[in-house]
Amino acid sequence: MSDKPIRVTVWNEFRHERSNAAVKAIYPEGMHAVVAEALRRRLGSAVEVGTATLDEPDHGLTDEVLERTDVLTWWGHGAHHEVRDEIAEKVRGRVLRGMGLLPMHSGHLSKPFTLLMGTTCMLKWRDCGEREILWNVRPGHPITDGLSDHLDLPQTEMYGELFDIPEPDELIFISWFEGGNVFRSGCCFHRGKGAIFYFRPGHETFPIYHHDQVQRVLANAVRWLAPKSSSPYAGDGVNVTEPMAPIGS
Ligand code: ZN
Repeated sequence: MSDKPIRVTVWNEFRHERSNAAVKAIYPEGMHAVVAEALRRRLGSAVEVGTATLDEPDHGLTDEVLERTDVLTWWGHGAHHEVRDEIAEKVRGRVLRGMGLLPMHSGHLSKPFTLLMGTTCMLKWRDCGEREILWNVRPGHPITDGLSDHLDLPQTEMYGELFDIPEPDELIFISWFEGGNVFRSGCCFHRGKGAIFYFRPGHETFPIYHHDQVQRVLANAVRWLAPKSSSPYAGDGVNVTEPMAPIGS
């Protein structure tokens, strides 16, 4: 499997960039365009990157697109409720069967992520452009490959604990904010055959996805999230009528 390119779909709500001049100035073609271009530039022939947005038919996530997606990145904010339940459920099912999911920033409240977590995924927030330092607490992890011991973002929206998520399988980044809050900013989970990496940075009014080290994390995460095994997923249940060995003889 490793010789084939990782097929990535970069999903974006793509509303703020069309309605807010400040956001449009940072992302004229949409956040998805910047993220997709960064992945293509950094990963080259290791990836095939497509994009999908909320207002496309089926939100750009037809069965065909989902089936051929190895890693789905997700940015949504103001219109989580407009994502159709059946599509969110299909994303969840596809993760269980092996697709990687990368919810970014306000994607913490997206339907696919909350379905997969089973908790509220709520948090504290404050939008005044304070400084954030993300501390790399897993320097041996593939997602932090090539990073120093921290990422420094001069201006961000604050997200603070409590972040109501299940205990992450691996915690990669812990954020400190100028205003005193802390946050689990990089969290790995395994669900079924699939992996999930929640990554906090990405508030739309700051040029977060143009940041070199943020892009590096996204590229590393795509590699880590790509399916590694072709073994079947039996999570739908199997009625094993034929025992492996004689019973009761
Ligand atoms: Zn935000």
